[in-house]
Amino acid sequence: MPIKPSPSVSRAITRKRATLNEQLACALEGGGCDRRRHALGRHCRQHQRRRERWGHPLGCRVPAVALKRHLRWWREFIGLNPESPQLKRAVAHIARLLRGDLPATALTISWRIPRPPRGIKAHLRRLHEGGLGGAEALAMVGALNRLAYSEHPLDVGALPDDDRLSVAMGRAVVLSRPLPKRRDPRTPSGYAKDKSVEPPGSICLALGRHLRGQLAGLFAWVTLEERKSKDKKTREASAA
Ligand SMILES: [Zn+2]
Repeated sequence: MPIKPSPSVSRAITRKRATLNEQLACALEGGGCDRRRHALGRHCRQHQRRRERWGHPLGCRVPAVALKRHLRWWREFIGLNPESPQLKRAVAHIARLLRGDLPATALTISWRIPRPPRGIKAHLRRLHEGGLGGAEALAMVGALNRLAYSEHPLDVGALPDDDRLSVAMGRAVVLSRPLPKRRDPRTPSGYAKDKSVEPPGSICLALGRHLRGQLAGLFAWVTLEERKSKDKKTREASAA
């Protein structure tokens, strides 16, 4: 049986490992960052923070203007297909998610951590009480997926298909209703003046991964439908 070190010894080992790790350079892909690594991570503090926030050390905000066209397309698609069982199922699933009717295990980030990120239930309740419906959330998430897989020359590289996409999806949903005010007992109102609270990256990631996993089939079907209707239009145009 392996010998388990006492807590103080394992803390000392962790500190030692961190000290050694911090002598290495940031492992940013493609290089370009000569800062030292932070704690036990592979990246420097700045790139680690960016990864926590955007799902990737080089992640950043998706510009609303890039999304506009795709959002319009998705809203129209949902409006044109009210009877589609695929869409109905997806909308119903998201509504259940927002109502908090899904088991907690559905929102875990990885199998190693069996609990969902802290505070995710409160965020879902806030969104539900704020009137966010399944169809509205589906349009936002679908638009991001469409942007990521877009073949439009202007969209290239707008949103890589990795955790950046998952975080962007979760973030779009979480930010679709005003965030709770930050408490600050030092101010007369009891709330901070700057009322915006950044949603934790882990909540966005958990939500986005769940949605992507659940909606992958729907997105594949939608892409196929879109291609079919495009082909039909091209055939009609060439026949005319
Ligand atoms: Zn770095």
